[in-house]
Amino acid sequence: MKRYPIKLAAKPAWWHVRLPEIRRQLSTMRHCRVEKLLASKELYAVFFQEKEFPKPEVRWPAAASSANPNAFKTSGMDPQCLMLIAGVHGAEAEGVAAVMNLLQLLETGKDLRGCERPALLSLLRAYRIVFIPCCNPDGRAISPDHLQGVSKEDFPRISQGIWQNGETISWAQSKEFFPLPMDRVAFPGGYPNRDGYNIMHDCAPGKVYTREAAAILELTERVQPDLFLNLHSQQGESILGRPSTFDYKRNIIRGRRLSEQVFRALRKHQLPALKPSGNSQSLNLNTAAVMLTRTLAMTYESTTDCGLTFNQILESHYVMLETVLASGQKKIFAARR
Ligand SMILES: [Zn+2]
Repeated sequence: MKRYPIKLAAKPAWWHVRLPEIRRQLSTMRHCRVEKLLASKELYAVFFQEKEFPKPEVRWPAAASSANPNAFKTSGMDPQCLMLIAGVHGAEAEGVAAVMNLLQLLETGKDLRGCERPALLSLLRAYRIVFIPCCNPDGRAISPDHLQGVSKEDFPRISQGIWQNGETISWAQSKEFFPLPMDRVAFPGGYPNRDGYNIMHDCAPGKVYTREAAAILELTERVQPDLFLNLHSQQGESILGRPSTFDYKRNIIRGRRLSEQVFRALRKHQLPALKPSGNSQSLNLNTAAVMLTRTLAMTYESTTDCGLTFNQILESHYVMLETVLASGQKKIFAARR
């Protein structure tokens, strides 16, 4: 399958979002551990500030109903674990670029632009961190480097795809098919994997169809994250989405506060931010991560455009992360008792 044909502004050299760029950068890194999660796909996990801890004798759902819910959390809280994943929807490259810059910042003290960010770096160093730079390599391989300057008409065609009769598969319509019937599409979009499955939404317990989601969830259970942050993008303003109503009450309260804090921080930095409101009833990869580990799981939707430069899109990720990680230093993300 070929990349979506569209002429867009050239990306800066530091915007690493292509699979060979990711592979190359990871191969140069020495202060972390890189693990390939699937033999057949370029699905990598990168570990910084790893620590050893005993394998729990119980899974979270059982521990949760026991007298000692912390029996699962053998990694303890010192430090907490941040699991930061990007590119679950392969067309959404902004989070991938942000993760690659964070990796470089942790590796060398400077991001891929050569910029220092001491406050963010010291916050990152206060956590155990597990990154997955690109959760959907299939979708990434056929998607543009970014979505700046893309028209309202092209946006869903790049992301959700095109039917064989030339009609656009809309965002909501794409969710009517698991998998997308590949024999009926001219272009599948970068949203699903190469088999047409949506890694984010095909996560019902007992039958997880994508090997990507299964590998991500296996890793989630293994590393016991306190915060599971899932980086996506959308055409509108940026938002750290509120947790779904299908979550622990304390997660919902904590998540809503964080969402509000990020909104204020982005506005303060004159970055486009959507005011958090409403109650999402999503059931997705985040819900599965919560059910496995009782983590606080949240999705950040970065704007793909809003007139921002590449630098400003990266900056908005930095501001979001600084806000969230500073909050985690004051109060743990997910109290399991
Ligand atoms: Zn998405």
